[in-house]
Amino acid sequence: MNFHEYQAKELFSQYGIPVPAGKVADTADAAVAAAKAVGGDSWVIKAQIHAGGRGKAGGVKLVRSLDEVRAVSENMLGMEITTYQTGGLALPVHQVLVAEATDIDQELYLSVLIDRANRCVMFMGSAAGGVDIEQVAKDSPEKIINVRVNIAAGLQDYQARQIGFGMGLSGKQTNQLVRIMQALYKLTMDKDLSLVEVNPLIIDGNGDLIALDAKINADGNALFRHPRLAEMRDESQEDPIELAASKHDLNYVTLDGDIACMVNGAGLAMATMDVIKLNGGDPANFLDVGGGTDAERVKEAFKLILSGDRVKAILVNIFGGIVRCDLIAEGIINAAQEIDITVPLIVRLEGTNVDKGKQMLQDSDIDVIVANDLNDGARKAVQAAREQA
Ligand code: GDP
Ligand code: MG
Repeated sequence: MNFHEYQAKELFSQYGIPVPAGKVADTADAAVAAAKAVGGDSWVIKAQIHAGGRGKAGGVKLVRSLDEVRAVSENMLGMEITTYQTGGLALPVHQVLVAEATDIDQELYLSVLIDRANRCVMFMGSAAGGVDIEQVAKDSPEKIINVRVNIAAGLQDYQARQIGFGMGLSGKQTNQLVRIMQALYKLTMDKDLSLVEVNPLIIDGNGDLIALDAKINADGNALFRHPRLAEMRDESQEDPIELAASKHDLNYVTLDGDIACMVNGAGLAMATMDVIKLNGGDPANFLDVGGGTDAERVKEAFKLILSGDRVKAILVNIFGGIVRCDLIAEGIINAAQEIDITVPLIVRLEGTNVDKGKQMLQDSDIDVIVANDLNDGARKAVQAAREQA
């Protein structure tokens, strides 16, 4: 689950991580009141969306008067912002953060993430922070310092100092960094976060470290342990198809290819995507209808995978263990009668009542290409998608 910057900064404050003073607002009037409450004579108005890259997309503006606070907030609220991090979605701005403008001496980068390959928590730091960090990671990865934390021992101060030295910080700043990193580590552990990114972590005009931006991601599977975090969910920032899927208990992820996949079981879904790739195709999504599925859910699943306009072919790959192939066939036939399926439909069934299921598909009047096995299905789907393109 993703969070807004202002929510992440509230958590940072609770953990003693310095952030610029700021208040969130959902109207232009509230933004002016927020600017007055924050004080000072210049502010930064920041669009609250679940993505970075706002600066380059007009979502971060420096203002120098209350009139400007009003005008800029009015314009930003109601905007829809697309950045390189929104995955093709335009995210609506329902809130702005009005923050005191901070003098920036240098922009650094600091993040915490789960390093799955090494089964540990990893910190990444760089002196080259700011809006172009992705470019830095690509062109000069040596400018990024990694520190892996032994989960039993926890983050050691010397490890934090390593990042501080690598960033070229002074002694005073290195001590500040140690406190910030220890707090970030505790926050990550306490709240089951999977990512914390502070970009930029800045050195301000007084030479002190401050978290100017904050992005966090919490492990959705652990949210039941954190009801206060779960309450912060903002569904307006989520992919509408993924949201609809979650309401039907379907696991759905939008991808950027053109072959829609309907599969039962996450493992089978991964294997299906691999075999599509192996055959030279690209999956448009990942849809796991689950183990004990029925005709109704198959119908919902079809509606979901057809709601994007990129889909050029559908591959249904079902292994009937608990679920029976004839029930799946019935679901497909019902769905095809109710929804206009305009792209080739390839179906591979295996398992309980497979012969009955295949027969039902063949006897029905829907257009379906029956596949013999997974590879055959993937090959036919890739070919069908190519012919549509
Ligand atoms: P992002 O583009 O979504 O990552 O948004 P950020 O919060 O990181 O802001 C983007 C950039 O705007 C930062 O890298 C800074 O250069 C600039 N910026 C943000 N807040 C301030 C501020 O208070 N003062 C100044 N001078 N620049 C700021
Ligand atoms: Mg940023």
